[in-house]
Amino acid sequence: LSERLSGVLDRLTKQGALSEDDVKTALREVRVALLEADVSLPVARDFIKKVQDQATGQAVTKSVTPGQQVVKIVHDALVDTLTGEGDPGALKIDNAPAPILMVGLQGSGKTTTTAKLAKRLKERDGKRVLMASLDVNRPAAMEQLQILGQQVGVDTLPIVKGEDPVTIAKRAKTQASLGGYDVYMLDTAGRLHIDAELIQQAADVRDVANPRETLLVVDGLTGQDAVNVATEFDDKIGVSGVVLTRMDGDGRGGAALSMRAITGKPIRFVGTGEKMDAIETFEPERIAGRILGMGDIVSLVEKAQQTIEAEQAERMMKRFQKGQFNMNDLKMQLEQMQKMGGMEGMMGMMPGMGKMAKQMEGAGIDDKMLAHQIALIQSMTKKERANPKILQASRKKRIAAGAGMEVSELNKLLKMQRQMGDMMKKMGKMGKGGMLKQAMK
Ligand code: GDP
Ligand code: MG
Repeated sequence: LSERLSGVLDRLTKQGALSEDDVKTALREVRVALLEADVSLPVARDFIKKVQDQATGQAVTKSVTPGQQVVKIVHDALVDTLTGEGDPGALKIDNAPAPILMVGLQGSGKTTTTAKLAKRLKERDGKRVLMASLDVNRPAAMEQLQILGQQVGVDTLPIVKGEDPVTIAKRAKTQASLGGYDVYMLDTAGRLHIDAELIQQAADVRDVANPRETLLVVDGLTGQDAVNVATEFDDKIGVSGVVLTRMDGDGRGGAALSMRAITGKPIRFVGTGEKMDAIETFEPERIAGRILGMGDIVSLVEKAQQTIEAEQAERMMKRFQKGQFNMNDLKMQLEQMQKMGGMEGMMGMMPGMGKMAKQMEGAGIDDKMLAHQIALIQSMTKKERANPKILQASRKKRIAAGAGMEVSELNKLLKMQRQMGDMMKKMGKMGKGGMLKQAMK
């Protein structure tokens, strides 16, 4: 796929803004990438449409192709879709003993994941965990959990043959309270397919245990099917998060995107192997990279964007040293400040600029002001921006009115431009600009 995609991308070498055709061509390939990564068709379709609207008309960063730029936009949109609310790794386990219910189809990795999470809770969070297997269907299922428990050093509920899942759940609850455990984990039975009995069993256990977390374990390799399973479980039982297993396999992680887009459930963890520490907190960036398989393009675009900013800064610095600082420069500075989190953010990064930041603060320049000042500059003509000295009283009035502000505000802005110009010139002369240049790097 990547080869085919880069082929198309290379052909798109026009510069400037992304045209609708550029975007369409690149997105056709992205769509194939999504489908190959097992993203469901309707989800891929919706997603592409969203990105298309977003991408058309965006400026293309110099030194990358429009196609590459589209990939970056797609990547960011993927991350956005994949990101759920809150920290995926933070399990709700206050109010000991906190019950965690594990559900999912047979073979999805429930028992393995239960032990992995128990180990993690014990080692990372210092929690005392009790695990209980409610799998009365599969022979040796309970012993499997017991063995894993011994492996990771986590207690399991003693096995009593002949009990039904609800009785075991009750016993686990009692034992967890009496034994002073922080968390107890209920590993339920699965089926090969969803059926009414399976759902009923899980619902009964849920009603007894009142879990703080109900984690649905899904095989990440099953793609499309995974979404149906998730929807069904969530409708009938209520799920607080999804664990995708077998993400160490060849699957491209498309199930993650479909899952988020259709069920809206947060993905909390991914299983990456059979070993007991092969579990990771879900990271949207990683899965997005995997779905697209184009991590290097994304970082290329990011780098190009940074380089351009650095080049711009350098060019500006050269002009400042010659004492050229007009309204266009000021506007760029103001916009930069907005981007960098206001005055302090920007000036703080430049040694020797702290004093200026204070001065400007003293002059009442805060973030709301920034927007007003930019508006004022925008109401000036090109000529006026390049040489604000030509502004006369009547024009000043008009400009201020155009931006919805008082002439006094405009006068303040003009004063600021002069002061900054002087300052830049002075600093430029100091050490032939060495200091400022250094500061801008
Ligand atoms: P359950 O039926 O849902 O309880 O599934 P199990 O926990 O018994 O797991 C079934 C099989 O999948 C076992 O052989 C596990 O070792 C394996 N497994 C579980 N999670 C992962 C994973 O993240 N990666 C890989 N490669 N195998 C896994
Ligand atoms: Mg099991």
